[in-house]
Amino acid sequence: MDRVNLYSDTQTRPTEGMRRAIAAAEVADEQRGLDPTVNALQERVAELLGHEAGLFLPSGTMCNAIALRLHIRPGGDAVLLDRTAHPIVAEAGGPAALSGAFPQPLDGDGGIFTAQQVEAALAAPGDRYAPRSRLVSVEQTTNMGGGRVWPLATVHEVLAVARRHGLRAHLDGARLLNAVVASGVSAADYASGFDTAWLDFTKGLGAPVGAVLAGSRELIDEAWRYKQMWGGAMRQAGIVAAAGLYALDHHVERLAEDHAHARVLAEGLAAIPGVEIDAARVETNIVIFAVPDAAGLAAGLEEAGVEASRLDSRRVRMVTHLDVDRAGVERALAAVRDTLGRP
Ligand SMILES: *Cc1c(COP(=O)(O)O)cnc(C)c1O
Repeated sequence: MDRVNLYSDTQTRPTEGMRRAIAAAEVADEQRGLDPTVNALQERVAELLGHEAGLFLPSGTMCNAIALRLHIRPGGDAVLLDRTAHPIVAEAGGPAALSGAFPQPLDGDGGIFTAQQVEAALAAPGDRYAPRSRLVSVEQTTNMGGGRVWPLATVHEVLAVARRHGLRAHLDGARLLNAVVASGVSAADYASGFDTAWLDFTKGLGAPVGAVLAGSRELIDEAWRYKQMWGGAMRQAGIVAAAGLYALDHHVERLAEDHAHARVLAEGLAAIPGVEIDAARVETNIVIFAVPDAAGLAAGLEEAGVEASRLDSRRVRMVTHLDVDRAGVERALAAVRDTLGRP
């Protein structure tokens, strides 16, 4: 039987249709701005996010890295972000190493912090002791926060505080379109107030490679320098950009299925003795829950052909995506039930 891979929504394989789009892609030298497929994808994402320009990059991590480099000035500028945010937990210290950024973690709820928390964390003007507050970064949806959707009003409040205090604002939209599909708010409404915003093609959208960073023409021109400097400039990258275009045409609305599957998973888990989860907080495709022994559960799941990701000694994360169907969700639930029910 096939394995049920709930490790992450990065685990998808390109579909037949996507592979055909890849095979048919028109390509040319991307570094020289000549690849028509890359250019089309950049323009499409810029428009979708309500920004002037876009830049195709190999990964979301590089989008965050370049954006931080654009906003952070030498001398230990602070970036305010949730303590569970990807640049803090999963980018190998890149903010410090590549941008000299001082990450200032905020204690949000499910990865979502408030404008009041931002305001309280800001350095006072002229303060020689605190790091200079420079940038606020929002993750939509929150990954390690449990796939939560930032309400538009909260985003606007945070942006208003940022503006009032002269801060730049960055949107890590790795799963922005999950938020769009879950809430009905448009991507541009969520993203246009930020100085930089991006979305990933290798999460729920199901493409093998790539992300697009968007911003003003001026910032994106500057971003090109770092793309070149850090080795992110490619050649006939239309081969992979074609998958991104295909995903925007075919894999956005279907994210609702992933959300429905995650809900079934969450509600099923909530009914299993020994599992701690608040199923009502599962809004998109990420399900995080706690058990007494996460390593034991992971081993039992592995035996049953179900992959999940173990976050720490108690917490486990399961993520639904286009390669997981309803039957897969039921198998995962049965595997959790069996493992935890063993004497
Ligand atoms: C996956 C992810 C990233 C990094 O994207 P990659 O394409 O894997 O480099 C950044 N932020 C969040 C919230 C993510 O989930």
